[in-house]
Amino acid sequence: MPPALDLSSLPLPALEQLVAELGEPRFRALQLFRWIHRAGATSLEQMTNLPLALRERLTTSAQLAPLTVAEQQESADGTRKLRLRCADGASIESVLIPRETKLTLCVSSQVGCALGCRFCATATMGLQRNLTAGEIVDQVYRANALRPADDRLTNLVFMGMGEPLANFESVATAIELLCAADGLDLSPRRITVSTAGVVPGIRELGHRLRQVGLAISLHATTDALRDRLMPINRRWPLAALFAALREYPLPRRRRITFEYVLLPGLNDSAADVTRLCRLLDRLPSKINLLPYNPCRTDQPDLLRPRAEQLETFAELLRARGLTATVRHSRGLDIAAACGQLVVTGAAATRHGFEHPFPGACRRMSRAGRARGAASTGAERTGQYVSTGAQPQRRDRSAQQFSDRLPAKPLN
Ligand code: SF4
Repeated sequence: MPPALDLSSLPLPALEQLVAELGEPRFRALQLFRWIHRAGATSLEQMTNLPLALRERLTTSAQLAPLTVAEQQESADGTRKLRLRCADGASIESVLIPRETKLTLCVSSQVGCALGCRFCATATMGLQRNLTAGEIVDQVYRANALRPADDRLTNLVFMGMGEPLANFESVATAIELLCAADGLDLSPRRITVSTAGVVPGIRELGHRLRQVGLAISLHATTDALRDRLMPINRRWPLAALFAALREYPLPRRRRITFEYVLLPGLNDSAADVTRLCRLLDRLPSKINLLPYNPCRTDQPDLLRPRAEQLETFAELLRARGLTATVRHSRGLDIAAACGQLVVTGAAATRHGFEHPFPGACRRMSRAGRARGAASTGAERTGQYVSTGAQPQRRDRSAQQFSDRLPAKPLN
């Protein structure tokens, strides 16, 4: 289990309460917060402007539990995957994706995932546990420490292992910590939360963090197919999902991103184009079309599309007035796909965990898990980058985002 009182998960008011209980002045909390979230300190010993007596008392009641980098892999295309070990031995993965003038970090929100999407390798792990807010922000600090000196993180996406909105409180707290003026002061506009369709979480996100980007893993235009591909649809079918999206308090000039993995013979028909148009009618939106990359040996009916099938489907959508972008695989040679990450074998540690949406998702059979775990790295997929003209100059908000990140390594 994660530590009972993890300092890096605590917002500033909670740190102020903690230091007050220890008989210390309030400004000590701000010092502590800045050490953790601005300087990326990994131990209390590093916090040299805090009195030794306070550090010793903190050690008895709380702790920092930084992630450790267990493994790094670098793709031929520059994508880098980090396997990070939590204090309790659980392992997660984060992915750094360079793209033109952008450097995006894809972070995980859970160890494994309960939602059982058929096209996803993470689903084969089942859900082990939620990550704490501290473990989520620490993925940013560890990745930031490892990035080349001439690279700057520009974007953060919650598209790694797990369903972010099934771990809403930790994800929201992590975003607030990362955006805090006394921390990294990241812009929420450069952060995207991707969900398979957890409707209550979408509503909560709109209330609490409407400035962050919202992405929906859609992948089907009928409940019948979406039920098969994404069991979460049985709990919140398309009508419920789109009702929530139409009520979402989207900021001006922002759009909801719809991720659509093209599966030949399943979701690539002319009727799908028509239904997509109907679903997205008058909803500020853009569609990212992704090729399916086979990642599980237990899903033989899911096929990878040819490049021309992706382009044809995109053209059909564009002809109907939708904004559609084809994205191509990145990090294929290191199994670094967003949402298709997996930690198996000795690196994975199972924990008991109550299913967040009982009845919504099929439990993976033991045999199914074994088959999924048996898939090789080469069988899994990679990250995606969009085709077509990319901006050659970093946009202003991206520049501002990166400039707030510490230039020097954080660990
Ligand atoms: S695609 Fe996302 S929500 Fe679905 S099983 Fe994979 S990690 Fe979970």
